[in-house]
Amino acid sequence: MTKITNLITEVDNSMKFILVGSTHPGNIGASARALKNMGFNKIELVNPKAFPDDRAFYRAKAAKDILEKTKIYTNLKEAVKDCHLVIGTSARYRTVPWPVITAKEAAYDILHCIKEREASVAVVFGREDRGLTNEELSLCNVHVTIETDPGYSSLNLSQAVQIMAYEIRQQTLSFLNSSFSQTWDVPLADSQETEMLITHFDEIMKEVEFYDTENPRKLLTRVRRFFKRSKIDHMEANIFRGLFAAIQKKLRNIS
Ligand code: SAH
Repeated sequence: MTKITNLITEVDNSMKFILVGSTHPGNIGASARALKNMGFNKIELVNPKAFPDDRAFYRAKAAKDILEKTKIYTNLKEAVKDCHLVIGTSARYRTVPWPVITAKEAAYDILHCIKEREASVAVVFGREDRGLTNEELSLCNVHVTIETDPGYSSLNLSQAVQIMAYEIRQQTLSFLNSSFSQTWDVPLADSQETEMLITHFDEIMKEVEFYDTENPRKLLTRVRRFFKRSKIDHMEANIFRGLFAAIQKKLRNIS
């Protein structure tokens, strides 16, 4: 029993659930309740339309405490900057496809990243009417689409939160019984490090006039997708940053 409780606490301490641009405060409250039912205690908000709000606290029932200590951000980039694994949830496929996995696969990934790489993880949910923007989705390593009837794929926000939290709890319980565990030698790069790497790569591409800055088309999204999907570690990020800096130095000496 204590082993299970300890592992659930460890997973809870390494995770946060982020709601972006929620319109209905009732959904925020219901999401807090869904999380607490599954043993999770951290919910954070990006630009909620109405919060704090009595309707949120009413719907949270016995999970009011986790709403009381929520943090509010003005943008998602800031909210995930210290996270090593960012999972975006979306009912729809987007124009530049990102890796899309199931809720179960995401839960497996989350457990392994927390246990083997000491990662901080965020699971991100979008607006009730239009989900996450493409820009917000591009901050994520992978996307989860919860399997539904194709004719009606859009779940209520708090129900999507419930399913994700349930799967992560299930995975936590089965992790205890599995003997497979491998420790990686270097921690994962956090979101801010990966963002700096992408910006640096873009600088290099511009300096060597690799693309038409007036018309980059989908190039930058594809480069971003590559780095996000690779889930690079801290040392790999430093190797690339060092290489980019060396290229810049050479270029400056030439010109
Ligand atoms: N009409 C929106 C759906 C918004 S539902 C859209 O087309 O994207 C509000 C949020 O609940 C979504 O942003 C997502 O975070 C989550 N959600 C709803 N249905 C989902 C599904 N089938 N798979 C994954 N996430 C889902």
